[in-house]
Amino acid sequence: MTANSFHPPERTLMGPGPSDVHPRILEALSRPTIGHLDPVFVGMMEEVKALLQYAFQTDNKLTFPVSAPGSAGMEMCFANLVEPGDKVIVCKNGVFGGRMQENVERCGGTAVMVEDEWGNPVDTAKVAEALQANPDAKILSFVHAETSTGAQSNAAELCRMARGHDCLTIVDTVTSLSGSPVKVDEWGADAVYSGTQKCLSCVPGISPVTFSERATAAIENRATKVQSWFLDLNLVMGYWGSDGGGKRAYHHTAPINPLYALHEALVILQEEGLEHAWARHSQMHHALKAGIEAMGLSFFVNEASRLPQLNSVTIPGGIDEADVRSRLLEQYNLEIGAGLGPMAGKIWRIGLMGHSANPTNILTCLGALDAVLTDMGADIRSGEAVPAAMAQLG
Ligand code: PLP
Repeated sequence: MTANSFHPPERTLMGPGPSDVHPRILEALSRPTIGHLDPVFVGMMEEVKALLQYAFQTDNKLTFPVSAPGSAGMEMCFANLVEPGDKVIVCKNGVFGGRMQENVERCGGTAVMVEDEWGNPVDTAKVAEALQANPDAKILSFVHAETSTGAQSNAAELCRMARGHDCLTIVDTVTSLSGSPVKVDEWGADAVYSGTQKCLSCVPGISPVTFSERATAAIENRATKVQSWFLDLNLVMGYWGSDGGGKRAYHHTAPINPLYALHEALVILQEEGLEHAWARHSQMHHALKAGIEAMGLSFFVNEASRLPQLNSVTIPGGIDEADVRSRLLEQYNLEIGAGLGPMAGKIWRIGLMGHSANPTNILTCLGALDAVLTDMGADIRSGEAVPAAMAQLG
């Protein structure tokens, strides 16, 4: 077989991630590759760590990007903190809570499940009961922003409750980081992981993580070795360094160019300012909402716990939802997401993440959705969505 160079089409990415990558970030990716122990590269690593502290709103020294996607950040938290026999209270209100349960069990721990209906936030009253009933629980884990539904849970309250029971917390912020407030130190969260391909608008494949001193102490005092060599924090830190510029030892070859991209993404975030980024996601959500509702469609998640960056829209009756997504992709180069697991066929997931959260994307999405649904004979108010969103955008 003779293959030609691969040139992907230019899409507008409005699904659950990846989001549109900012052109400055794509340009950063193409800069010359240098050695991963080159002093210039090491200097950039220090900046990435400091910028991630800003993004996570933490002074945690142990803050760095794992050289693998969000799932690896998740696994690093569980593999380092859960030892065989440990009890972990796991909140599950969507796909990613289920993955946390898998992680606990694969580490030899016992998962005590607190389950909520998909689309609802984690019920803090149920968690309070579970903490009361399991005084020997070592960790409470939950997903701040459940990407499978678009529901946001009360991270500040869940972390506060865990601390009250001397429990560590593992918090998934893959979809929330830089899209809605993530305040690691204010919350008192202990092990927090995220991803680069959502509201940071960077390329996928890197997972920012941060660990509190309590979490670091628990890892240092483990009775057993971390089962995974690649994810063992004690070894990884020999390369990333936690002392602000000490010697670096080879552990693995870092993804050098993707780290240039992450650096650029974080510089862009710093330029915009975290508060402005959060406010922009919220403003764009309100514009999209005005259009979706003007069309006669509705949101799956209650307004109080709705994430601005992940909009779950209920699919109108009698419509082949996969056909709608194919037409959006083929005719408009626009990607929106399908429902995951039990939500398949019930919702579309429209992402407004990072660079994708802008007025042009919103108007493109609403106009294209209106045109496709009207053509398919759906029971919607045609022609109303775009003006409604424009009125909201001002
Ligand atoms: N956690 C949440 C909430 C996610 O949305 C995702 C990915 O969508 C992950 C974890 C896993 O991240 P990745 O796909 O980068 O491995």
